[in-house]
Amino acid sequence: MRYSKAFIPTQKEAPKDATTPSHSLLLRAGYARMVGAGIYELLPLGMRVLTRISTIIRDEMDRAGAQEFLMPAIVPAEYFKESGRWDSFGPALFRLKDRKGGEYHLGPTHEELITDLVRREVRSYRQLPLNLYQVQMKYRDEPRPRAGLLRCREFLMKDAYTFDVDEAAATESYGIMREAYKRIFSRLGLDYRIVEADSGAMGGSTSAEFQVLAQNGEDAIVACGSCDYAANVEVAEAHFKETKQTNGKMGAREKVHTPGVHSIGEVISFLGGGLRPESTLKSMIYIVDGKPVMAVVRGDHEVNEVKLARVLDVEEVRLASDKEVKKVTGASVGFAGPVDFDGRLIVDRAVTHVLDAVVGANETDQHYRNVNHGRDFTGDVHDLHLVTEGDGCPKCNDHLRLYRGIEGGHIFILGTHYSAKMGATFVNDGGKSLPVVMGCYGIGVTRLIAAAVEQYNDDDGILWPMAIAPYQVHIAPLGNDGEVAAKSEEVYQALRAAGVDALIDDRKERPGVKFKDADLLGMPIRVTIGKRGLASGEAEVKERNHKDAEAVSFDTLIDHLTALVVKRGGRLLDVS
Ligand SMILES: [Zn+2]
Repeated sequence: MRYSKAFIPTQKEAPKDATTPSHSLLLRAGYARMVGAGIYELLPLGMRVLTRISTIIRDEMDRAGAQEFLMPAIVPAEYFKESGRWDSFGPALFRLKDRKGGEYHLGPTHEELITDLVRREVRSYRQLPLNLYQVQMKYRDEPRPRAGLLRCREFLMKDAYTFDVDEAAATESYGIMREAYKRIFSRLGLDYRIVEADSGAMGGSTSAEFQVLAQNGEDAIVACGSCDYAANVEVAEAHFKETKQTNGKMGAREKVHTPGVHSIGEVISFLGGGLRPESTLKSMIYIVDGKPVMAVVRGDHEVNEVKLARVLDVEEVRLASDKEVKKVTGASVGFAGPVDFDGRLIVDRAVTHVLDAVVGANETDQHYRNVNHGRDFTGDVHDLHLVTEGDGCPKCNDHLRLYRGIEGGHIFILGTHYSAKMGATFVNDGGKSLPVVMGCYGIGVTRLIAAAVEQYNDDDGILWPMAIAPYQVHIAPLGNDGEVAAKSEEVYQALRAAGVDALIDDRKERPGVKFKDADLLGMPIRVTIGKRGLASGEAEVKERNHKDAEAVSFDTLIDHLTALVVKRGGRLLDVS
């Protein structure tokens, strides 16, 4: 492609409402434009990325035995009414009426339609298993469309549905699709983690998210540096390290006057003497069914409220107000502690290993020193704290790390939820009529464009992974020199003949402008051809994610670039 002919409307300023790099960069670099809240146009460069991503997805779906089909985006209301989702989907469903008053909606997902198709067309176990997928626009009236292509109201999605004779066969289909998803995300060049819904359980997982790691991800996840353990922070477990500090002798409990000292940080600087946060205890008071519950964690830990609610067998817990804390402990906020606490006490298991802790004394301006679990207080011991960086992996005990993730894919076994409700049955080999067992597999194709940019960007622009870059090589001829232009054109043609997808910046722009735009657009390899290089017979080759460039002789340039494209995960065009 010639830059002078390409439609790449870059802009200097980031959009005012841009909160994430992908939102800002995709608009600035001319990949997309917004036409309404959560509604976007993909311009040619954006479309090329989208096509590359969907090609990889289709390739792997086909390899996994799935067959592509296409359902309508506009769906008569009867199917969602039959499943109950016409009501339960609520305002997220885009509803519309035709000229006769007939009710329709725009498809947010298609379980009902596909279940209906199978209900009509599948009769016998001989027609199963069945695996169908589509790549189609989906519609959800998000309450807060945000962050550009990360959360849109119209977006391209790959959704696949599997149909099997029983749970075991469905699990097998699930396993095949899970492998296909792994290949897809690896081929896209994304750093991702598979987050199992019921992590920790040995096998038998029936749902998993494919989380693309990125600083601005909506989901907080923890993952192991050594093994494949990954989980949402809310449910993540930590290996309980037996780091008993209690080998030492317990000191005698003493009360210390700590005027105006509320937080753990204030306690530490007030008491001094090398006191560390892990030698203090944090006592949080919650109100559960109208009664106070104290949760005690180490000073460097946070209470995981999801875990606390599970321990207490309630839907959710509410942190007590300042007034309630005062009423319960008799002290102002910041001085609560487990000793002689009048109420239910839930203690994190890490607390049981703290020797001579500092805790609030349930008296304003008073703390205790040398408090020990077992001697000075008891309570129910559970895994209660939010997993933190450095906690042990529950599988292998190596360090866990915290990440933010963007959900790029979601796979799960649906079971017979829709098929039983909608009567999608088949006759098994014993002549018995049974509901088909379904699985459902989604990938947010549009979202992956943004997720890739979230993962790969710097101050100057985008750094596309080779496999999904709009162009593999960006040729930058420098200066208004006839020879340079001719040589650049020669390289451009030779690359095309070798199957490399190249963009040549043939604009009459200054070198500074060309370099700036090359960095902003983010093609993985830049080839610079200038007068000086021409004299020495070399071009400058620079990878977007490398600091340094290298000089490559024109004699070997095409071979060098072709090999580099392949090495970085790119595929050459079929030029035969
Ligand atoms: Zn591990």
